[in-house]
Amino acid sequence: MTDRIAAGSLLGPLPKTGKTGDISSMKQKLALAAFLGAVALSFAGNQGIPDHPAASIRSVDPAFVLELPSEWATIDATGTETLTDWIEVWKPMCGSKRGVLTADMLEKMALDHHAQVDDPDGVIVIDTPRDGVAAPFNLVFTLASTVPASAIASFTRAEEYLEARFTDSVTVTISCSFAAMGSGVLGGTSPSYTTATYTSARAGLVAGADASDTLQANLPTGTRIGVRYSGTSSTVTQEDKIYFTRANYKSTIGSVSGTDASMQFNNQFGWDYDPTNGVSGYSFTDVLIHEVGHAMGFVSAAGVWTNESTALDLFRFQQTDGTSDYNPDTLAEWTARPRLVAYNSPNDAHITDYVTVEYAMSDGSPYQASHFREQSSNIGIMDPAFSSGQTFYPTYMKTSDLNAFDGIGWDR
Ligand SMILES: [Zn+2]
Repeated sequence: MTDRIAAGSLLGPLPKTGKTGDISSMKQKLALAAFLGAVALSFAGNQGIPDHPAASIRSVDPAFVLELPSEWATIDATGTETLTDWIEVWKPMCGSKRGVLTADMLEKMALDHHAQVDDPDGVIVIDTPRDGVAAPFNLVFTLASTVPASAIASFTRAEEYLEARFTDSVTVTISCSFAAMGSGVLGGTSPSYTTATYTSARAGLVAGADASDTLQANLPTGTRIGVRYSGTSSTVTQEDKIYFTRANYKSTIGSVSGTDASMQFNNQFGWDYDPTNGVSGYSFTDVLIHEVGHAMGFVSAAGVWTNESTALDLFRFQQTDGTSDYNPDTLAEWTARPRLVAYNSPNDAHITDYVTVEYAMSDGSPYQASHFREQSSNIGIMDPAFSSGQTFYPTYMKTSDLNAFDGIGWDR
């Protein structure tokens, strides 16, 4: 519990940002400095942040990267403390029309969101008491004053639904705000992310496996896991670093404070806040549960970074066998075959594979890769496309969704 002095801890956070696009304006920099209470700022495009996660952000979709304060984490398995680095990667909310939100707009959105939710007098906390209910998993929403009163029942509905699905003893806090974004855009969102060594990722997944889990113990042993970062090459990279969302880190590796995700929704969008009586427009509850799913770790690096892997990617393979029998049919093959974390290659041949069942995954084009593949019969609520009038009520998450969360360390 000693030696807690680290860079930034005495002087306040030292944020940096990077985005796919232009350098931020001075006005925005000053706004960021104001809300983070920063004493020093360093801004640059992606190339200006060597050795930082922003350096490898994929530029296919617009994104805005915000460096968050470092946090001390306590590793569950060992009780040791470690200083962890965190970033937010703001992207258009799934279902938004592509090409509308630019990196500049995402930056403004991120700054506006943080300014809103950092005002303690303007925030409502949604944390429904669960009297008599044994629900160690606690989901908390902190809502800025811009969240419409009519939306609040949706947050409570999502909270109670998700708390009943998982049994991990963690509290996940998500901040939400609303703002005007024009037509075709649902909003912008970011989980906060850190990295863990593959060794800690595997240890956390194995130690945290629930009674029904058998697969995690079959992850390759050692300090690295083989990943193909190109679907047109047989080259296998021995990866030693795995990205986790903060919520997934807490469910699997260790305890850490901080907000797990930030979301800003479009107040000019035709939301239906109550799917229980039919849906006219877009079901807010469905979109919210989907976005919380990303915050809980349903994320592929194939859609966010180049040559990186997330916890969910530890289960990601090529669907076609190709010349090297890439699709695992047995536990032994599942251990031995390289994972596939590549953007749009081979086209439409990406899966998550649990040996006994596999699910088609989006390859990044035309939909963001952090999803199941879009098809006419939805694989699950973590599909990439969502349409007016659609709802997964009352089930919301299908077995496919629950299997994915189970795999990355959520207990059920
Ligand atoms: Zn999504």
